[in-house]
Amino acid sequence: MPECFDKSKVWFVGAGPGDKTLITLKGYRLLQQAQLVIYAGSLINKELLEYCPPEAECHDSAGLTLQEITDLMINGVQAGKLVVRLQTGDLSLYGSIREQGEILTEQGIGFVSVPGVSSFLGAASQLGVEYTVPEVAQSLIITRIEGRTPMPPKESLESFAAHQTSMAIFLSVQDITGVVKQLTGGGYPTNTPVAVVYKATWADCQIVRGTLDDIAVRVKEAGISKTALILVGAFLGEEYHYSKLYDAGFSHEFRQA
Ligand code: SAH
Repeated sequence: MPECFDKSKVWFVGAGPGDKTLITLKGYRLLQQAQLVIYAGSLINKELLEYCPPEAECHDSAGLTLQEITDLMINGVQAGKLVVRLQTGDLSLYGSIREQGEILTEQGIGFVSVPGVSSFLGAASQLGVEYTVPEVAQSLIITRIEGRTPMPPKESLESFAAHQTSMAIFLSVQDITGVVKQLTGGGYPTNTPVAVVYKATWADCQIVRGTLDDIAVRVKEAGISKTALILVGAFLGEEYHYSKLYDAGFSHEFRQA
């Protein structure tokens, strides 16, 4: 029996980073039954729409305003349709779902969020690395630089760079030179490794590696100016330590030394 989804609500679904098989099973099932889909066409892999029934109505939100998007959703729910709002990666990062949700709530329509695989996770898997390396880096800072959206004054890249831990920088590759300047100004040594991952998990993914010294030139040479993450930190370097979890000389709750 197919799962029955509540049509009185709008279903916000995280589409994953690109590869169409990286959507959650729940997201996939929602698309299979969707009657109205509003997808963020600038970043979504359109192959995901192949999961929808042929009669499903699909709208690209790239050229629409907030009001037009929410009007579509409201009309869809009022017409008794299963409405899916499909956005890239996970909804909880740079997803702008709150403003959409608020307008729906004003109309007495609820929404449900279905998580997705964020691109920073897709990028790490593409590189086969972990952001947390024992004794090297145990924290990950997710941030961006100022664009049309201003940054809160206490969240400058310089201030984060002082920690010299792992960083995943969204929405910023267009100003890689400025990013590098702020990161080195804030405290990362210039030999800190950097990887810029363009379209992680897509067929045309591109990875550019370097250090803070040369990454800006390399990224420009590669012609990358959007849809990329800047990953920075010693987690990309040579130094690491084995985890104590699997250390034969180390006892824990589930295993004696
Ligand atoms: N909610 C999304 C992020 C939306 S903001 C998520 O969880 O991933 C859009 C930015 O995300 C892009 O400018 C880029 O920095 C990053 N991004 C999205 N998909 C990407 C991908 N497949 N590879 C690399 N970066 C990606």
